[in-house]
Amino acid sequence: MEKIIDEASNCLNCKNKPCSTKGCPLGNNIPQFIEQIKQNNYKEAYKILSETTVLQGICGRICPHAKQCQGSCIRGIKGKPISIGELETVAFDAVLEDDDSLLNCYQEEIRKNKTNKKVAVIGGGPTGLTASAFLARNGVQVTIYEKYDYLGGLLVHGIPEFRLPKEIVEKTVKKILRLGIEVKYNQQLGKNIFIKDLEKQYDAIFLSIGANKSSKMGVEGEELEGVIRRQRTFRIQTTSRLQR
Ligand code: SF4
Repeated sequence: MEKIIDEASNCLNCKNKPCSTKGCPLGNNIPQFIEQIKQNNYKEAYKILSETTVLQGICGRICPHAKQCQGSCIRGIKGKPISIGELETVAFDAVLEDDDSLLNCYQEEIRKNKTNKKVAVIGGGPTGLTASAFLARNGVQVTIYEKYDYLGGLLVHGIPEFRLPKEIVEKTVKKILRLGIEVKYNQQLGKNIFIKDLEKQYDAIFLSIGANKSSKMGVEGEELEGVIRRQRTFRIQTTSRLQR
């Protein structure tokens, strides 16, 4: 932990925070969460990250930091950038065993924002999970319809264990579901669930069905055991009556 606090102490807490504004697609408040790590306050660091993401432990491990936040870090101009991904991972892992950590951050907000709106989220991969969590935090009743008998999508079957341990995905999913989200497994759009039926039951439908079929590279040996292709694209579409 001393090494982590030393690393956090190297952050300059830059006023214009290019790591966040230029480097992070989510706009995570990077200097502010690092400031909490400096003060040995990991729960508060986790809470700050939760304002903009619910996949802290996953982003910390698999985001292309060198191109994004760390690639924009002022420290990197003349030397080594701050290890932002590692610090993010530490903030998540500090609350790893606490299933209610995310709920505790937003219990009050959920109570205050309670609505009678209902949203169906089709697909429980990273996009669907993120949308579900932010909707639930805004008082919406969310039901995820998932094709498989597990959540996580590509995070589970598209990223090898050495890059992203399944345990981290499971714990992240558990925290998200504790926000009061219902899940229906083994539900496939066009097979046993249909938009026309869901439209009658929900105020909005969020389609996050992903793009699970990867394209072939067309090179010899790509089907051999141990050869891993990474999938990169997600298809996102919404239909919404929430504004009506
Ligand atoms: S750019 Fe680097 S040094 Fe500046 S606030 Fe962000 S992480 Fe800290």
